[in-house]
Amino acid sequence: MSRRVVVAGGGYAGLAAARLLLKRGCEVTVVNPHGYMTYQPLLPETAAATVHAGHVVVPLRSALPGARVLTGSLVAVDRSARVADVAAPDGTVQRLEYDDLVLALGSVTRAFPVPGLAEHAVGFRTVEEALHLGNRILGRLELAATTADPDARARALTFVFVGGGYAGVEALAELEDMVRRVLPRYDGLSVADARWVMVEAGPRILGQLPDRLARYAAAQLRERGVEIRTATSLTELTEGRAVLSDGTVIATDTVVWTAGVVANPALRSLGLPCDPAGRVVTDEFLRVGDGVWALGDCAAVPDLVGGGLCPPTAQHAVRQAARLSRNLTGRPAPYRHKDAGAVASLGLRKGVAELYGVPLRGLPAWLVHRLYHGSRLPCSKRRLLVNLIWALGARGRDPVAVTAIESPRAALRDAIHAQAAD
Ligand SMILES: Cc1cc2nc3c(=O)[nH]c(=O)nc-3n(C[C@H](O)[C@H](O)[C@H](O)COP(=O)(O)OP(=O)(O)OC[C@H]3O[C@@H](n4cnc5c(N)ncnc54)[C@H](O)[C@@H]3O)c2cc1C
Repeated sequence: MSRRVVVAGGGYAGLAAARLLLKRGCEVTVVNPHGYMTYQPLLPETAAATVHAGHVVVPLRSALPGARVLTGSLVAVDRSARVADVAAPDGTVQRLEYDDLVLALGSVTRAFPVPGLAEHAVGFRTVEEALHLGNRILGRLELAATTADPDARARALTFVFVGGGYAGVEALAELEDMVRRVLPRYDGLSVADARWVMVEAGPRILGQLPDRLARYAAAQLRERGVEIRTATSLTELTEGRAVLSDGTVIATDTVVWTAGVVANPALRSLGLPCDPAGRVVTDEFLRVGDGVWALGDCAAVPDLVGGGLCPPTAQHAVRQAARLSRNLTGRPAPYRHKDAGAVASLGLRKGVAELYGVPLRGLPAWLVHRLYHGSRLPCSKRRLLVNLIWALGARGRDPVAVTAIESPRAALRDAIHAQAAD
């Protein structure tokens, strides 16, 4: 009888592990709260419309023929009985028996107790957030071009990003680039009217990159007019107003929160050994024990090459998936991976990268970014479409605000009210 493996989490690590385990003859059940995996490295391009949103989500059912895919969340594990409880979207719970349980629950946005954050900021980890942000910014351009109130115009054209890691810097850079391209189409607005602010609590942005490259990226953004405020944090948000730790008050309608990630808090309720950061502790073979394995952002995996623990990156997630599938079905070997480096896009034809210790800037770095991500999307149809659109110099979609998508009942409701008033 083939081995019954439950893979909890259908993101980067879970999808890659499930595919390989199927190839190795396992009976695989994947549990994920939604029916798709999101290719997060292309979310900045999705927000800026250079990549279509449908191309960065990979449907799990078509990507995993032969697997059972359950839409739900892992809510409990009984390690001694080897059963996992999965809650469906309607709250009903079903019990799954397994021989092995693979935890790939990922991470969530790191939050701090900033008053007004939940009510007035938007995060940047999901395709929905990326779509919302692109639409939001384009919608603010429409408002700014129409309003007769100069304060409302200034607020609409001010965009604040909190957190200067990869996600925040790439999102700001791609969106600034998009706005720079589309603003001339708006009557009475010019590029100089838009204000972009990057707020970073640390001493510099892109702390993961070598100092020289991070300084280059900061200089690039400053040349484009971006205000970079390091050693500064967000202390309060209210409607139309962001307050910073140095006392600065910024009138803005758009605040994006990209202050890093923490391990999925759902792990804490599963009764598994976790490190102080909340990640499940594994040995170098990716084992937690008693048939439980863990990988990706949710796991504290020893980094046998760089020392310490593996950082939460896609690069490690997919390589851990390859190691885990071999360890689970064959003779276990320790997980080892030397970081290939890092690459960040700063808008069309602009970027920064370090590849096997070689620093790259501008167009070469941007080309590496496109070649790498254009070849890594885990679906051949999407790879083809994204590369074709890029090769044609086209966009994934036209940058136009479709804000009504966030209140789909409004049109019918208005029609009903208007007719009732007749
Ligand atoms: C904007 C952005 C850009 C990035 N760019 C890069 C990059 O250029 N290079 C790089 O190496 N890394 C990058 N990363 C990081 C990379 O995306 C993550 O390291 C990677 O996704 C981790 O994979 P994972 O499978 O552990 O987590 P995820 O891909 O987040 O998958 C976790 C899955 O588990 C699901 N889940 C959550 N709770 C439960 C539950 N209770 N039960 C079942 N399923 C659950 C989630 O819904 C999700 O589908 C980026 C991240 C972001 C946000």
